[in-house]
Amino acid sequence: MPRPIQAIIHHDALRHNLAVVRKIVPDSQVFAVVKANAYGHGIERVFPALNCSDGFALLDLDEAKRLRALGWQGPIILLEGIFSAQDLFDCANDKLSFSIHSAAQIQWLQQHPNPAQFDVFLKMNTGMNRLGFKPEQYRAAWQQLNDCAAVKSITHMMHFSDADSDRFGKNGIDEQLELFNRSIEDLPGKRTLSNSAAILRHAQQVDSDHVRAGILLYGSSPDYPTHSIVDWDLQPSMSLRSEIIAIQDLTADETIGYGSLFRAEKNMRIGIVACGYADGYQRITATGTPVLVNGTPTQTLGRVSMDMLAVDLTHITNADIGSEVVLWGKSSCQQVLAIDDVAAGSGTVGYELMCGITNRVNFKIET
Ligand SMILES: *Cc1c(COP(=O)(O)O)cnc(C)c1O
Repeated sequence: MPRPIQAIIHHDALRHNLAVVRKIVPDSQVFAVVKANAYGHGIERVFPALNCSDGFALLDLDEAKRLRALGWQGPIILLEGIFSAQDLFDCANDKLSFSIHSAAQIQWLQQHPNPAQFDVFLKMNTGMNRLGFKPEQYRAAWQQLNDCAAVKSITHMMHFSDADSDRFGKNGIDEQLELFNRSIEDLPGKRTLSNSAAILRHAQQVDSDHVRAGILLYGSSPDYPTHSIVDWDLQPSMSLRSEIIAIQDLTADETIGYGSLFRAEKNMRIGIVACGYADGYQRITATGTPVLVNGTPTQTLGRVSMDMLAVDLTHITNADIGSEVVLWGKSSCQQVLAIDDVAAGSGTVGYELMCGITNRVNFKIET
């Protein structure tokens, strides 16, 4: 028997979460963001559940080619754009769209020898200060692209830095949205602005012809702890499950694991779970982080090691060797442990845990 740890991908949850987006922005095209191998889920694994989206967004040419190999013929956009002039040949071959965020990328397009016609997404930097043209440079860049033979269409693009929160005590998007609107005033072309947080929190205010839905599709709340997945009606699309492989009875003052980090104050029954940081469960996860055993909530104890961690079974009398442990996601009886609640135990976000599942974990798909 293989080691009992498994990551389960839930197609029904992906479909449900996509439907949530459609309901919120019925007039927008929904691009499913599948960068980082679909947030750690595996592009091939999520594709059957997300192939009713209007397009896909990602970063790597390799990942784009994998989508084409699956038979996807619709739009694909490279969110970081091309990394060299050479990439344009691949984009032409595989019919890929891409963002344009730098003068170098415009030059590569101008020098491209073939009359390929690209749909490009011109990115404005409205304050995130990672990628894009400053508002005062934007029109000149737009004009250059508009004059470029290789360009078929130009979509205006921006990315909010604070759609999930407030910005200096104000609504997180007001200033950047206003700057964007003002800067593209009277330029033709469609617009793409919203990520998950903007879709969920600001759909009334933001007019986005294409939305770029990432984390919410995977059942993590972009503005946790302000809102949970229950508040947003999202379902976990990935469950990390394992089993109890050993049980220890502790008397008061005995300790658990490396560094003897946890000391029992009373008699306790603890379970050892086949899951450790080499599976992607973070080593710095604090004692007290939630876990489900046989569907019952309990908590981690002591330091997470490479292959194992300990959980409290004192109050779970039906737990034994082989009992199901849910590290995040859904139990086989449908109890939910939100990945956001687990991520909080190591000071991170659901995004990082999903992306961090390691190669030795086997995946299974539930349709
Ligand atoms: C990753 C990414 C998104 C998706 O963000 P989520 O918070 O996961 O919805 C959208 N747009 C761009 C440019 C991105 O890089």
